[in-house]
Amino acid sequence: MSDLHQTVTTGFQTRFDTEPTGLWSAPGRVNLIGEHTDYNDGFVFPFAIDRRTVVALGVRADRLVRVASSFAEETVELSLDDLTPENLEGWSAYPLGVAWALGQFGADLAAVAGFEVFIDSDVPIGAGLSSSAAIESAVAVALNDVWQLGLDRRVLARVGQLAENRAVGAPTGIMDQSASLLGRADAAVFLDCRSLAAEVIPLGFDAAGLELLIIDTRVSHAHSTGGYASRRASCEKGAQLMGVSSLRDLDVDDLARARDLLDDETFRRVRHVVTENQRVLDTVRTLREQGPTAIGALLDASHVSMRDDFEISVSELDLAVETARATGAIGARMTGGGFGGAAIALTPHALIPAVTAAVTAAFAARGFGTPDLFVVRAADGAAREQD
Ligand code: ADP
Ligand code: MG
Repeated sequence: MSDLHQTVTTGFQTRFDTEPTGLWSAPGRVNLIGEHTDYNDGFVFPFAIDRRTVVALGVRADRLVRVASSFAEETVELSLDDLTPENLEGWSAYPLGVAWALGQFGADLAAVAGFEVFIDSDVPIGAGLSSSAAIESAVAVALNDVWQLGLDRRVLARVGQLAENRAVGAPTGIMDQSASLLGRADAAVFLDCRSLAAEVIPLGFDAAGLELLIIDTRVSHAHSTGGYASRRASCEKGAQLMGVSSLRDLDVDDLARARDLLDDETFRRVRHVVTENQRVLDTVRTLREQGPTAIGALLDASHVSMRDDFEISVSELDLAVETARATGAIGARMTGGGFGGAAIALTPHALIPAVTAAVTAAFAARGFGTPDLFVVRAADGAAREQD
């Protein structure tokens, strides 16, 4: 039994004084390319990573719901009759928000049984690897099984998103939950955020001797702060002035007209989204036709676009990307919403120690805080665990 299986089983037994019905898990995710495209109805290309949130869940005979986590002292308790987004707060809004959101997608919450759940995870929290989607997706697959709802994974992704939007109050898209639920080993999820069509595309990193190195700058990013909201507003303004319902409806041929029509800042925001959508399409095509060693330039171009056009990078991210490239990464970019968080560097296996040392030294030389560097591999999505 793995460590997390052991800790959730023991945690469940200790907190609830009974045995769980089963164990379920779901991974965090990293976005390979396609940033700030999701809310513009565009394309993203994330993969599920080999860091997971595991839940032990047991069905109760009554209507009580109890949630506990190795991250929190308290056990949060509620009746299913009181399960509304307004009644939820703090970390328990993630798992309990999922239970509520299942009710919005067909579960009869007036009839289902109560449950107890204990949660543990090795997805770093707040590092941009979506510990939030991991916890939501793990609870969603668990309740889908024990409540025998028969919802498919694309619907469960929307359940997780609704929980995060309404119960947690974070205005996030569908990308994270889709990666956590649909991901496969050594593959990424090509997602059309307009149609919600999702396709699993082999990455072939292993065969090419490549690793994806995460460089967590540990500069904290808060999506609710002005930067994220103002970028969204610029995109809406750009779409409106260009006469389209979303920036997805523009392609690179429309940029000359956009330059004439828009103020410089709005134009650059639009150019990022339009070219980033194209880079996602190009990445998928390049992987299929030439394999992963050929996608480096697309990752680099994505970073430059976020740094100069969308203006969401910070010095630590730029330094991480530049240093990784200079020491052997074949492509690197910041990943996630920006203003902090992590960068990714696609790196030949043998050069991981050299890049790690160089980035760490460069941060020290600039007086930045110590970054956290680790390799992630593309892993399978949410599943019931063998117990
Ligand atoms: P991330 O980038 O990791 O998704 P978020 O702020 O979106 O960051 O979500 C992190 C929050 O999710 C945590 O602050 C906590 O409330 C909740 N969370 C994630 N994993 C767990 C866990 N294992 N146990 C309890 N709460 C968790
Ligand atoms: Mg999150």
